[in-house]
Amino acid sequence: EGTRPYLLGGNWKANGTLATLRALIAEFNAAGPIPANAEVVIGAPFIHIPECLSSLRSDIEIAAQNCSLTGPGAYTGEICASQLKDMGVTWVILGHSERREGFGMAGEDSDLVARKTKIALAEGLKVMFCIGEKKEEREAGTTMDVCASQMKPLADILSKEDWANVSIAYEPVWAIGTGLTATPEMAQDTHASIRQWVSDNVGADVASAVRIQYGGSMNGANAAGLLAMPDIDGGLIGGSSLKMDFFSCINSVP
Ligand code: PEP
Repeated sequence: EGTRPYLLGGNWKANGTLATLRALIAEFNAAGPIPANAEVVIGAPFIHIPECLSSLRSDIEIAAQNCSLTGPGAYTGEICASQLKDMGVTWVILGHSERREGFGMAGEDSDLVARKTKIALAEGLKVMFCIGEKKEEREAGTTMDVCASQMKPLADILSKEDWANVSIAYEPVWAIGTGLTATPEMAQDTHASIRQWVSDNVGADVASAVRIQYGGSMNGANAAGLLAMPDIDGGLIGGSSLKMDFFSCINSVP
């Protein structure tokens, strides 16, 4: 809406091979221009980041899908924020529900996600900070309690200046990868509550400037309705970002 440029993030997760992603990059590169009021970022697997940096059109920025809680050092298997920044990565997706869940490993709690966010910002990365409720939580009417508890450690740890480089990705867990999208009205309602929470807990200036992306089965067919809503400032797009449908989402910005 107005002064907030739309932010369209793709989240490739652990999908693709070098060959399939090269083919997709070629298609993205051949697609038309990106609307002037849209910022586009692809969250690539760590190993595919160099290929994206060298081959993907320069008007699409690159995000990592996670970063370490540590700095550089003896942390086998970790990738730290300063290393991402050094490569030319400009964004990182943090606190995705899949990482919070942990898929069989220890999941990430809101305190940890907030600390990772602080580190990433300190290294000069921008952060898509993911929040969102599960199906049972929506049904129990606790959606905003869940979102608030996920944002509280972040509000406690960030300075006002930090918020300039944060986008909140509201991703109802029941809508991720399920084909079930929140209706534009349902999403708008939660986005407005999230913005109100930021206003009450961080500041009205931050609340009016912060982007709030919607995520959860967004695609070229439903993006226009969602993006038309006053508090929906973009999308975080999983499945559709692995196809040319991603550009249909991008071209759906009002
Ligand atoms: C996501 O994982 O961030 C996401 C929104 O996935 P999908 O678009 O596939 O639901």
